[in-house]
Amino acid sequence: MAATEHKSLYYDTHAHFDGLPLEMFAVIDRAMDAGVGRIVAVGGSTELNVGALAVAAAYPECVRLAIGFDRDQAASASPEVHVETLRQLAEAQPPAAVGETGLDFHYHPESAEAQRALFRAELMLADEWRLPVIIHTRDAEEATLQVLDETPWRGEGLRGVVHCFTGDKNFAARLLDRSLAISFSGIVTFRNADMLRGSAVFVPDERLLIETDSPFLAPVPKRSLRNEPAFVVHVAECLAKVRGTTVDHIAAVTYENAMRLFG
Ligand SMILES: [Zn+2]
Repeated sequence: MAATEHKSLYYDTHAHFDGLPLEMFAVIDRAMDAGVGRIVAVGGSTELNVGALAVAAAYPECVRLAIGFDRDQAASASPEVHVETLRQLAEAQPPAAVGETGLDFHYHPESAEAQRALFRAELMLADEWRLPVIIHTRDAEEATLQVLDETPWRGEGLRGVVHCFTGDKNFAARLLDRSLAISFSGIVTFRNADMLRGSAVFVPDERLLIETDSPFLAPVPKRSLRNEPAFVVHVAECLAKVRGTTVDHIAAVTYENAMRLFG
């Protein structure tokens, strides 16, 4: 049987686009050739939001849009100004998710308070829009849970994903308790990532997602290359191996979960 007759479909739930349009088209073509059926183009800064909008507009059938301002933008303007910008962007094109947003005290401990305020404002925007939220968290586990728990949810409550997960089983459990999905990136394929592979075994099928976080963090065996959505296949292969199942199964469950969240 030819490979094309029996090809799994993959959903890369986290890719960034800030490159030139020509490069963007080549990247999407290679993703489709690799069996990537859908991609969430994720914002996070002015440049990344513009890139995500461009690729989502060019590929409405297979690219879903997420817009947001990440922790690096927390100090550049007030949460109100950032939220107003997101409202304007959403008028240009309705997003499928808010993000990425979240907290990173590893690189920016000095802006912790501003990060919390921006994160909270974006969670409330996601709640108002009844959209899932894409959350980044690094060296900020307790603070992340605290902001999530203190947000005055009005709509359908918290829905979304902690992306590029690097935590242990305990943190995964606390996120699962809050109905979040957990997404694994190429980091799970790295040689020194045994603890993370333990977390990857722990997350149940119905909460599991895969992503590239491209253009960064290319998975083994593509470590030396610039990352792109086509490489999400290697994340799925790694998860299949550690979870003792087939790559077809990982592709199918993660695709279904992503469809439920992002469409
Ligand atoms: Zn990202």
